[in-house]
Amino acid sequence: MLALQYIPNVTTLGYDPTKCNGCRKCIDVCPHEVFALVNKRAVIKNLDACMECGACVGNCEPLALSVVSGVGCAYGVIMGLLKGTEPTCGCDEGSGSCC
Ligand code: SF4
Ligand code: SF4
Repeated sequence: MLALQYIPNVTTLGYDPTKCNGCRKCIDVCPHEVFALVNKRAVIKNLDACMECGACVGNCEPLALSVVSGVGCAYGVIMGLLKGTEPTCGCDEGSGSCC
């Protein structure tokens, strides 16, 4: 299976490790293996794989996670896969209108 990657360095995923209780729910629900558990706490191992689906946030009881969920640039990721290129939403970066 192809590994989906978000557009680099744009995901809104936020994480406060001081609130993490190590429950593993984010690891269990994340469809893209963004997290791992290290020393009984979640760590983000692949930030750019985050598709902003919000599943981890909805299952994190201590509110250690945050994300602005939505379809965002999923379109760009899919187009990148179809074209065999890096993910791109096709916006003109100089126009200030990107997503
Ligand atoms: S769901 Fe929240 S509390 Fe549980 S391991 Fe993940 S970040 Fe930590
Ligand atoms: S928002 Fe979705 S894809 Fe991103 S880390 Fe959370 S569960 Fe994984």
